[in-house]
Amino acid sequence: MAEATRGLKRAPHRRIGGMKAVVADPTGGPENLQSMELPTPTPGEGEVLIKLQAIGVNFIDVYFREGLYRAPERPVRLGNEGAGTVEAVGKGVHLRPGQRVAYAMARGSYAEYATVPAKFVVEVPDSVSLDDTAAVMLQGMTAHYLTHSTFKLERGNTCLIHAAAGGAGLLTVQMAKIAGATVIGTCSTEAKAQLAREHGADHMILYTKQDFLEEVKRITGGKGVAVVYDSVGKTTFHKGLDCLSPRGMMVSFGQSSGPVGEMDPLLLSQKGSLFLTRPSLANYISSRDELDWRASDIFKWIGEGRLRLQIHKTYKLEDAAQAHRDLEGRKTTGKLLLKP
Ligand code: NDP
Repeated sequence: MAEATRGLKRAPHRRIGGMKAVVADPTGGPENLQSMELPTPTPGEGEVLIKLQAIGVNFIDVYFREGLYRAPERPVRLGNEGAGTVEAVGKGVHLRPGQRVAYAMARGSYAEYATVPAKFVVEVPDSVSLDDTAAVMLQGMTAHYLTHSTFKLERGNTCLIHAAAGGAGLLTVQMAKIAGATVIGTCSTEAKAQLAREHGADHMILYTKQDFLEEVKRITGGKGVAVVYDSVGKTTFHKGLDCLSPRGMMVSFGQSSGPVGEMDPLLLSQKGSLFLTRPSLANYISSRDELDWRASDIFKWIGEGRLRLQIHKTYKLEDAAQAHRDLEGRKTTGKLLLKP
């Protein structure tokens, strides 16, 4: 009754007390990930308490674990993506306990429960499983904004997608094909190249063995590409600028090999009046309309069989350190999930 007066609605079966969570304590290598018991959070105004069924692992979790991206709290809560059912809601939230929901870009999903601002939460249609949803929210909406907003691909465009067999990569390849573009991808092994081809890539380059600039010039007849989607950073960024045709766009959206470092804007002029952007998903789902547009396209394309999900492996929550080792060790393709 006291809760009802605070505007809190709860599911009847909720476990009272603590929950399992994995945190970085202190920041550093995967060995610093620790399982601990934390109090089950209570949703505040505008928040949803979600009982997580599946948790997405993303490279951004590595950056928070290492301390490259700074978190204010100690120990550092990890995980930016999850899917599950509504357990309770705070005041002003129009969701009901038991509803199937998912979200990305609110930290703290390496746990049994997470409180998430309702503005990040979408309802999941019955046609899509919660595991598949946890595998596609963050990287799928990223692939969507890259190909449909940052540089809106059209038929006739050729794009270069680095790490094309990775989580964000395989989804970006497929969405670039949905937009009608020609896709050149890069990756480190023939097995990864084969997987990316199976997901629609037109040309694959093994950037660990071949010079990707020479290959791009050869494939495009010297013209270069309209856009480079670069999540690798340090080892690919500068050569990527040379792959662009005049007035092309470098979309530097990650740094799996390390930070790019500083760059003089004059270089963009010298290399053909290029555009450079360093986008973040948060700025592309900041309005409800944009979030709903991206999520609904993704659910629709999964339903139509146009978007195929590649789940590399599902780990137990307490094995998050191994998931990080595998991701950083370039051993994975597609998505890694944790199960609480
Ligand atoms: P991936 O599944 O793409 O894993 C990283 C891949 O990068 C590896 O599999 C590997 O593929 C490639 N890679 C190249 N060099 C290295 C290296 N030195 N160390 C490790 N990996 C390397 O991860 P995610 O899909 O989770 O994320 C990819 C990138 O996209 C990350 O940098 C992430 O931060 C970024 N991102 C950015 C977002 C944004 O909005 N800005 C949102 C989502 C992701 P290969 O073996 O084929 O080279």
